[in-house]
Amino acid sequence: MTIDQYNFNGKKAIVRVDFNVPLDENGKITDDTRIRGALPTLKKILADGGSLIIMSHMGKPKGKVNPKMSLGQIKDTVGKYLNTEVEFAEDCAKAAEQAKNLKPGGVLLLENLRFHPEEEGKPVGIDKEDPAYDAAKKEMKERQKEFAKTLASYADVYVNDAFGTAHRRHASTAVIADYFDQNDKMLGYLMEKEVNAVDNILSDIKRPFTAIMGGSKVSTKIGIIENLMDKVDNLILCGGMTYTFAKAKGGNVGLSICENDKLDLALDIIKKAQEKGVNLVLGTDCVAADSFSNDANTMVVSCMDIPEGWEGLDAGPETRKLFANAIKGAKTILWNGPAGVFEFDNFTAGSRAIADAIVEATENGAFSLVGGGDSVACVNKFGLADKVSYVSTGGGALLEAIEGKELPGIAAIRGSKK
Ligand code: AMP
Repeated sequence: MTIDQYNFNGKKAIVRVDFNVPLDENGKITDDTRIRGALPTLKKILADGGSLIIMSHMGKPKGKVNPKMSLGQIKDTVGKYLNTEVEFAEDCAKAAEQAKNLKPGGVLLLENLRFHPEEEGKPVGIDKEDPAYDAAKKEMKERQKEFAKTLASYADVYVNDAFGTAHRRHASTAVIADYFDQNDKMLGYLMEKEVNAVDNILSDIKRPFTAIMGGSKVSTKIGIIENLMDKVDNLILCGGMTYTFAKAKGGNVGLSICENDKLDLALDIIKKAQEKGVNLVLGTDCVAADSFSNDANTMVVSCMDIPEGWEGLDAGPETRKLFANAIKGAKTILWNGPAGVFEFDNFTAGSRAIADAIVEATENGAFSLVGGGDSVACVNKFGLADKVSYVSTGGGALLEAIEGKELPGIAAIRGSKK
């Protein structure tokens, strides 16, 4: 069932959204992107003549009530965007009466799901090493089912539009789906878009396919790198990873970020790329700095020969050309992670070169997906977000999907692939 096929007229819909928006110290929203992202789904349901029960988490209250993370703070903003009065349920597990009284067109916002430990389903206050942990976990899983069943009882239909939490098997993101018929549960528009974007990258590949993985460490990206190795034609590894590779190949990397316990892994990646015929593109030169700051003195040096006391903070001019060449002719592009410390304005050139090449390829018909917190921050910083095909809202969820893992939030609705 898709959201477009469903007529919500006279139905109560419980919708899991990601309203985990950043707030300032006065509880004012500083970035409402996530609220705006859910509006198409919410508006479709209201326009059909349905009523809405909106649920979300905010922050990490760890199973306890914490007024600083109350969704009550965003009620009026939600109302403003939906152009209607929003009712608030101060305890998401005790909203049956309010849900029952909802009229078509009515909107009820539930308090932060994570005020209840049952949402995440992890036992609280007990160490994993404790012999009683397994029993506590089992008990919590039962409580999680009850909690999900309570939430499900408020509504006729369940919609999941929270891609950011799709990689978690929480009560509201996955378990709740068990209490709805197959025809009464579906993904929202935002989820559909995210899932289609990942499908484009993983199943419907137009070649050549260039993936650009950057960021600070090899260790956090290894699962994705390994999965991509079977799919891509060109694999650019950049950012802080560059120096682990350079050192593994016998280079001197000075003070550059380097994972000394991952040198073998780096050599293994180089070998696998050769075996699989993947064109692995690594930086050759870099912009080295004499301190980790925007105002540091800089010089362009070989990644294999960085002087003592200096560290590579950005891709050098030759490297930028290499990267751009591997991107420009591509028809499918995935970018995760910056090519340098882009937060410092003087070290953005590598990431900028990548972004510009992606924009050019996209203009020439490539499908480009940018995802994972920092690369999204990058394209936003460069003002290029609307010049790539898709900017994902999901951090961990996107990366797990690209790793080829099944996301519980999606499997709960579509059925498991396994
Ligand atoms: P990640 O969270 O692993 O995607 O890493 C993103 C972070 O990597 C950003 O904050 C960048 O500043 C940082 N980064 C990228 N290149 C380097 C580098 N050469 N040295 C240190 N940090 C880097």
